[in-house]
Amino acid sequence: MAEQSTDFYAVDELLEPDEIAIRDRVRAFCEKEVTPVINGYWERAEFPFDLVPKIAELGLSGGTVQGYGSPGMSAVAAGLVAAEWARADGSIGTFYGVHSFLAMQSIALLGSEEQRERWLPAMARLEKIGAFGLTEPKHGSDAVGLETSARRDGDSFVLDGAKKWIGNGSIADYVIIWARGQDGAVGGYVVEKGTPGYSATVMTGKTALRAVWQAEITLDGVRVPAENKLANCHSFKDVSAVLDRTRYTVAWRALGLATASYELALAHALRREQFGSPIGGFQLVQDKLARMLAEITSMQLMCWRLSKLADAGRMTAAMASLAKMNHAAKARAIVADARDILGGDGILLENHVARHHADMEAIVTFEGTDSVQALIVGREITELSASAAGSPSVAELTDRGEADALRARGATSPDTLPRLRSPHLDDGAADGQLHLPVELGRRPVRLDGVPGIGVLCRPPA
Ligand SMILES: Cc1cc2nc3c(=O)[nH]c(=O)nc-3n(C[C@H](O)[C@H](O)[C@H](O)COP(=O)(O)OP(=O)(O)OC[C@H]3O[C@@H](n4cnc5c(N)ncnc54)[C@H](O)[C@@H]3O)c2cc1C
Repeated sequence: MAEQSTDFYAVDELLEPDEIAIRDRVRAFCEKEVTPVINGYWERAEFPFDLVPKIAELGLSGGTVQGYGSPGMSAVAAGLVAAEWARADGSIGTFYGVHSFLAMQSIALLGSEEQRERWLPAMARLEKIGAFGLTEPKHGSDAVGLETSARRDGDSFVLDGAKKWIGNGSIADYVIIWARGQDGAVGGYVVEKGTPGYSATVMTGKTALRAVWQAEITLDGVRVPAENKLANCHSFKDVSAVLDRTRYTVAWRALGLATASYELALAHALRREQFGSPIGGFQLVQDKLARMLAEITSMQLMCWRLSKLADAGRMTAAMASLAKMNHAAKARAIVADARDILGGDGILLENHVARHHADMEAIVTFEGTDSVQALIVGREITELSASAAGSPSVAELTDRGEADALRARGATSPDTLPRLRSPHLDDGAADGQLHLPVELGRRPVRLDGVPGIGVLCRPPA
C-alpha cells in the first residue's frame, strides 16, 4: 500500500478508480525501487540501467498511446504517472517522459500504420528505448530553424548535422532525428542503434537531472532506409503537434517535484526543533508551508482540468503552455522554500530536497522555456505575435487555411511555397517563434530573391 500524498481539496474524488490505481502502482514502485537508491546514481551521474526492466514490468510505456501494447491511459492517468515519477525523482521522470511521451507519441501520431506496428510494440515493452532529437547546438528555443539535413539518395535518406541535449540519445535503440529535407520541410527520421555515422557523447558536468543522460549527437552521412521517414510528418508544425500533446505532462512533473519537496519540508518542520520548539510552530515557517500548499492545490486542479480537456480533444497548445509556464515557476519557488526550511540539511542529497531543487532547474528549461511558453500564451490572448507585432506568420496563415486559400486562387506558383520554406521560413512554427521578417497581412511585401512572397499577404479588406 503506497503512502498518501498531499490532497487538501480532496482532488482524488475527481479521479476515476483506474486512474488512482495506476498512480498508486507507480507510487508504490517508486517507494520500493527508486527513492532508496536514486541519490547514489544522481551523485555519480549514473543512469540506473537496473531499473529499466522493472519499469518495463509496470507496462506503462506509451502513456496515452492506444494499442501496440501500450496501456492507452487517459490523459489524467498519464499526468498522474508523470507526476508520480517526478515526485520520486526527476531523472527517472525524464527517462520515462522522453521514451514514452516524446518518442512513442511521435511515432504514434506521425508514423504510418506499418511504422507503428514496426516500432511501438517493442518500445511498449521497453525492450527498445526511444529518443527525440530536435534541439541543436545553435537552435534551442528556435528549434524551427534546425539545420540538420536529410538528402534523398536512392532508397535512403542521408542525414548530416548535430543535435544537443538529446535525452537517452546515447542509449536509445530508436532516435527520431528531426531534419530538413531538400524541399525545406522538416521531417522525422528514425535512426536505429548502430547506424554508421551516428555518434553520441553523454553530456557531463550537469547540475540537474544527473541520473539520466542527455547526449550531443553528430550525424555524419547517416544513411537511413526511406521507410524510416515518419510518413505523416510534413512540416515543423507536425513536430509542434507532438510537443503540444506532451507538454501538459511536464506541468504534472513540476507538480510532482513541488509536492515531494513540500512533504519533505513539512515533515522536517515538525521534527526539527530550534529555540526549544519545532520550527513548524513558528509563524513564518507556517506561512511558507501554507503558501506552498495553496500553490500545490491550485496546480493539482489545473492539471486535472487540463488533462480532462486533453481527453476531450479540447486542449490547445496555449492551454498546455499556460500550465507548463505556471507550474514550472510555482514549483521552482516551492522547491526553493522547501530547501530553505530544511536549513543546512536542504543541501544534503540524503534528504532528497537538494536533488529536487537542482532538478527543477532543468524542468524550467526543457520542452520550452518559461519565456517561450509565455509568448505562446501571449499570442493566443492578444492575437498578436510578439516577434513581429500584428503580423501573422506563415504558420498562422496555414493554421487558418489562408495560405491554402491564396494558393488555390492561383496567387502563387506551386514551386514558390517550398522555396519560402527554406531555413527560417519554415511553415510550422506553431510555437510562434518564427515569423517572416516582414509585416504580413498589412501591406504588400517583397523579399529580395524570393519572388511571389507578396502573395502571402492577406488581400486588402
Ligand atoms: C535536461 C534537458 C533535457 C533535454 N532533453 C531534450 C530532448 O530529449 N530532446 C530535445 O530535442 N531537446 C532536449 N532539451 C533541449 C531543450 O528543449 C532546450 O534546452 C530548450 O528548448 C531551450 O533551448 P536552449 O537551451 O538552447 O536555450 P535558448 O533557446 O538559447 O534560450 C536561452 C534564453 O533565451 C530566452 N529566449 C529565447 N528565445 C526567446 C524569445 N524569442 N523571447 C524571449 N526570450 C527568449 C529563453 O527563454 C532562455 O531564457 C533538453 C534540455 C535539457 C536542459
